[in-house]
Amino acid sequence: MDYVVAVLVGLGLAEVATLITTLYLHRVLSHKAIRLHPALTILLRLGTWMLTSISPREWVAVHRKHHNFSDVEGDPHSPYIEGYWKIMLANVYYYRREANNDNTLEKYAADLPYDRLDRVLFRRGTLGFSLTGLILVVLMGLGPGLVALLTLAVVYLVLNAAINGAGHTFGYKSFKNDATNLRLLALITFGEGLHNNHHARPASPKLSAFRGEFDPAWPVIRLLVALRLAEVIGKVNEGWEDHRRRIPSTTASPASISAED
Ligand SMILES: [Zn+2]
Ligand SMILES: [Zn+2]
Repeated sequence: MDYVVAVLVGLGLAEVATLITTLYLHRVLSHKAIRLHPALTILLRLGTWMLTSISPREWVAVHRKHHNFSDVEGDPHSPYIEGYWKIMLANVYYYRREANNDNTLEKYAADLPYDRLDRVLFRRGTLGFSLTGLILVVLMGLGPGLVALLTLAVVYLVLNAAINGAGHTFGYKSFKNDATNLRLLALITFGEGLHNNHHARPASPKLSAFRGEFDPAWPVIRLLVALRLAEVIGKVNEGWEDHRRRIPSTTASPASISAED
């Protein structure tokens, strides 16, 4: 029973980490579609550090480069270039490879220099994740605590790989770009599965565009706005139709890219 609870705790934490990723790392920092209250920013920085061990400066740089070179030479993690299974199974390797490139950080995240808090604490990502492990072990016991931590890590990595791999391979397209929409993936990644929409309008604070699509992060953002903890900057609904190009096939395959224009 302890281990069932441990897996559930790990799943819950992975979802929290995924929400922090889409809200803070992606919509706030990378695309500046939303602005946050400073108190919430600190909380999300702490959450990023403890649940993902990611450096926001690195994540933003790699992600912006991905937008700049989507599915062409230079894309840090393209299933078209590397192969679908390599991204699905080793996304974190491709991420680290690019995150270790100082030129990428300087070019794509010049607006996000490390501050004092980064230097003394948040740049030590392993420490944050270890601290989470320690807390889980103290609260749940050694075995269940480690199972919860492992579940968090595996599920978080798999969901991110799925966005970069499956989200550029399978699903439907409403817009003419190489990313795809997967409604089911969107439900468990707080909207990130609507990746074709996102590549069409990266600065949109909401990732759902048309009827039948749901971005679970959007009600959360609306709540934060109502609480005056967030401010939406990007245009929410205007603009989708301008970009719309219905792609007839329901499944995108790598061979279909640039077949017609
Ligand atoms: Zn993408
Ligand atoms: Zn993006």
